[in-house]
Amino acid sequence: MEITVINPVLFYSFVFIFGLIFGSFLNVCIYRLPREESIAFPPSHCTNCSSPIKSYQNIPVISYLLLGGKCSSCGESISPIYPAVELLTAVLVTLLFYKYGVTIETFVYVLLTLSLIVITFIDLEHFIIPNVITFPGIAIGLIYNLLITDWGLFLKVFPRIDLGNIFYIVPEIPALNSVFGIIIGGGSLFLIAYIYKLIRKVEGMGMGDVKLLAMLGAFLGVKGVFFTILISSLVGSVVGIAIILLQKGNMKLALPYGPFISIAAVIFIFTGPLVIPAL
Ligand SMILES: [Zn+2]
Repeated sequence: MEITVINPVLFYSFVFIFGLIFGSFLNVCIYRLPREESIAFPPSHCTNCSSPIKSYQNIPVISYLLLGGKCSSCGESISPIYPAVELLTAVLVTLLFYKYGVTIETFVYVLLTLSLIVITFIDLEHFIIPNVITFPGIAIGLIYNLLITDWGLFLKVFPRIDLGNIFYIVPEIPALNSVFGIIIGGGSLFLIAYIYKLIRKVEGMGMGDVKLLAMLGAFLGVKGVFFTILISSLVGSVVGIAIILLQKGNMKLALPYGPFISIAAVIFIFTGPLVIPAL
């Protein structure tokens, strides 16, 4: 959608600032969700000395720079991951609005991308993917695709679906695409777990990864889930092997898989339909 009413520079600046604020909220989720703390209370405080963070010290990125990366009360250094998450969120949200315009699609992709950022940083630190994100994610992805389905078309083509044309018809019907995406995403666990175990010689896949793939299947459908599995296992294997080589053959390193799944899914959101148009 062309933005003609508002000055584009003004519009994207506004989106970027909102992205930074969302990123700041994601930091709260990343810190508190795995610790099973409330997201709303208490208000932001230093995780070292517990002194409250004043509102002027809570400006995304800028406060971090002004405070020199240190708590103003106790001087404990603040992780650079906080401003990094804020910047990453703002950049991705802005790019999504640039690619998809002001549409329902954009809001759905923004929601999905924000979830993936939270999952990535929680998985990197704690090696878990919280059910409080993936379970509602599966439901929201499925509901969205049910809502955008043309049920008249569905009723017309449904009796004519057979094994010969299933790969052509399913992607055309969002509801079917989502259901098959959930099944393929969740069901592919055993295959990936097997390959992962062969390469890494450790149990690499958790149930969290399965639920994450099911959630991506719900949102992105069959094509999206295939793309995500392919790219994430490829990038994950390359990074895993590189780290093993750097550590001179120490195979005991544990690497969370969630971040690779998330990166692959974001790549699909931006490029997927262009990369594999025939699938
Ligand atoms: Zn402090």
